[in-house]
Amino acid sequence: MAPRRRRPGAGPPPLPPPRRVEPGTDGRDYEVRPVPGFRATKTYRCPGCDHEIRSGTAHVVVLRIDDEDADDRRHWHTPCWANRANRGPTRRWS
Ligand SMILES: [Zn+2]
Repeated sequence: MAPRRRRPGAGPPPLPPPRRVEPGTDGRDYEVRPVPGFRATKTYRCPGCDHEIRSGTAHVVVLRIDDEDADDRRHWHTPCWANRANRGPTRRWS
């Protein structure tokens, strides 16, 4: 077991943050991007509970990762997205 040597200033370049990809309610993969409250400047409707996400509320945006051209992003309450699998059959998103 050789001790690791650290050369100052010679570290690896910082990696971009990994994409957080999770399966959606339809089984496809979605990228999940957290939106902090201060960046939530509009009111959205959450497809999980069908209630509004008020501006200033931290939430998540989910995007289809296999269809970059489709502007198919949905804003969810963070807990609604986390519990999406427990909601039983859901209506279609579009
Ligand atoms: Zn919701």
